[in-house]
Amino acid sequence: PGTWEAARAAADAAITAADLVSAGRPAAYACCRPPGHHVTRSAYGGSCYLNNAAVAAQRLRGHGADRVAIVDVDAHHGNGAQEIFWQRADVFTGSVHVDPSTGWFPHFLGTAAERGEGEGRGANLNVPAPPGAGDGEWLRAVAEVAQAARNNGAEALVLALGVDAAGGDPESPLAVSRSGYREAGRIVGAHRLPTVVVQEGGYDLAAIGDLVLAALEGLEEGLHA
Ligand code: ZN
Repeated sequence: PGTWEAARAAADAAITAADLVSAGRPAAYACCRPPGHHVTRSAYGGSCYLNNAAVAAQRLRGHGADRVAIVDVDAHHGNGAQEIFWQRADVFTGSVHVDPSTGWFPHFLGTAAERGEGEGRGANLNVPAPPGAGDGEWLRAVAEVAQAARNNGAEALVLALGVDAAGGDPESPLAVSRSGYREAGRIVGAHRLPTVVVQEGGYDLAAIGDLVLAALEGLEEGLHA
């Protein structure tokens, strides 16, 4: 009970954030629960019901950004946005995540070989990390995806901010630190693109608020550096 109301409210928060950024704010954060990045056109899963990041990306397009990008740093592959924009060049989708073939959701998608099809060929990038990867390897992957988004001509970004790659999170084997999240925010912000931040996963409930704050502080530093 209440799932639809919560999912719809999360999508509405993402829309509001996209509207604020399109109106000139440098960044806006949508505190979405449930998260959304595992939702495809025809299926939901992984605790997700509506793809908030995809909704935000399409909203940015509707406001006139010719090309936008989703940079997904959740510990799990952003299979939903990948599927939704698979054949489109105007919405780049990139994801940094634990290698799904090592036993992690979504298990059968998220390899580096998946690059999109048709007009979307080259507009999808997956950078899987091995279990146990920490700040160094993870941040290099974040930088690679953010740069690829920029290279695809993005005029605005959606940062799909899952904080479940943190060392203490029970849902992933990655080992990113608080300062790693702050640096990830800086890396994304340094591209100086209008940025909608959409909350994705994060399951260490005592820690996630501070991790999100760290990422947002880093983003602000990057945008103003
Ligand atoms: Zn996740």
